[in-house]
Amino acid sequence: MQMEYLFNDWAWIDKKIRGQKNVVLLCDYDGTLTPIVDLPELAVAGKDIIKCLRRIAGKNKVLLGIVSGRAMSDIKERLSISGAIYAGNHGLEIEGPGLKFVHPLAEELNSILRLINQVLNKAMKDIRGVIVEDKGMTLSVHYRLVDEQTLPEVHRRFENIVRLPRMMGKIKTTAGKKVHEVRPAIPWDKGKAISLIVEKYVPKHRRKDMVLIYLGDDRTDEDAFKVVNHMEGISILVGKSEQQTEARYYLNSTQEVLTFLLELDKLL
Ligand SMILES: [Mg+2]
Repeated sequence: MQMEYLFNDWAWIDKKIRGQKNVVLLCDYDGTLTPIVDLPELAVAGKDIIKCLRRIAGKNKVLLGIVSGRAMSDIKERLSISGAIYAGNHGLEIEGPGLKFVHPLAEELNSILRLINQVLNKAMKDIRGVIVEDKGMTLSVHYRLVDEQTLPEVHRRFENIVRLPRMMGKIKTTAGKKVHEVRPAIPWDKGKAISLIVEKYVPKHRRKDMVLIYLGDDRTDEDAFKVVNHMEGISILVGKSEQQTEARYYLNSTQEVLTFLLELDKLL
């Protein structure tokens, strides 16, 4: 399906949201609320975006959640929006008012993740620019800063390490923006995390009066877009209009995400 530029369809969005009693706004973090930067620790959401999110989260009819590949404690610390829900590690850990969820299999597979983390660190030590990030339940190997000609070596070493545990069904690997991710092999993703959040916070009888909005920019957000479309929500990709995606709408940049949030705030 062809994506539509969000602001071209604003009259419809306005109609769908204005006066709505239950608004669930869920956002990815990196690349959605922050521009993509070289070092993951430097990715910071702008003050204006955080201020706007706080204002939105403070409204009675709104439930705000951040659904990120980062560790939950990391996004929580970066945003510290009271009353918000934080889903970290692609939803393997979720925390919000009255909710503390850790996927049971994630705990079980933790020792393997620990081992792979050690081996990856050793294997990548002599390659400049590789950052092995230990996010507790998942691992990320960032290679944005690696020289072009060294990249094949990074991929080769990574594959060598992950091949066996992946074959054994213990882990799965995904490729994001200049990053390899290692996750425990659990049939779980951002889409399932969203379903859990809705189930927990929006009682069944109120779901028909609910509008669910999701903003994301990367491949792991596709599972979220699918679930949001299924719930007749508003799925928004932060990216290029010609991108292959499940999202129904797109915005060009994190700057436009801020514009959207400011406009959304007026409708709530
Ligand atoms: Mg992202």
